[in-house]
Amino acid sequence: MKKIFSILTILFLSFSLKGQTLSKGKKTYKIEKTNSEWKNLLTAKQYRILREAGTERAFSSSFNKNKEKGTYACAACKTPLYKSEYKYDSGSGWPSFDRPIQGNVELDIDYKIGYARTELKCNTCGSHLGHSFDDGPKNTTGKRHCINGIALEFIPESK
Ligand SMILES: [Zn+2]
Repeated sequence: MKKIFSILTILFLSFSLKGQTLSKGKKTYKIEKTNSEWKNLLTAKQYRILREAGTERAFSSSFNKNKEKGTYACAACKTPLYKSEYKYDSGSGWPSFDRPIQGNVELDIDYKIGYARTELKCNTCGSHLGHSFDDGPKNTTGKRHCINGIALEFIPESK
């Protein structure tokens, strides 16, 4: 009986913890596809990052040094996610932004490496983009959206 009680307590605790996440439970996205549909649409590298929450090698993205004006869109569904004016050089090895395009990036919590991190996902298709940290530029938002370049597609501003 005691055992059942502690299992229930654990269940209850994990549910209430879940309730604290910024996005609730299993959400449905405007764009939803099966794994095999995504596999057909994306390269193997893109699939690993976007759909399996992988992380690209630091300093591997050409976007790190991209200073061109434009918009960074989700590589999976093409929703605009970040503007070049909010991109900054964090020195982390991943493209970094101090804020997303309002409403287009979902904040979620993951515990993959043992402690809570704020996971960033495309709010339209749920694809994994990267993580948010609190060591961003202090003179703006203080946030660092650390994004896998592979998860992004750059659309230069038309001149
Ligand atoms: Zn997307």
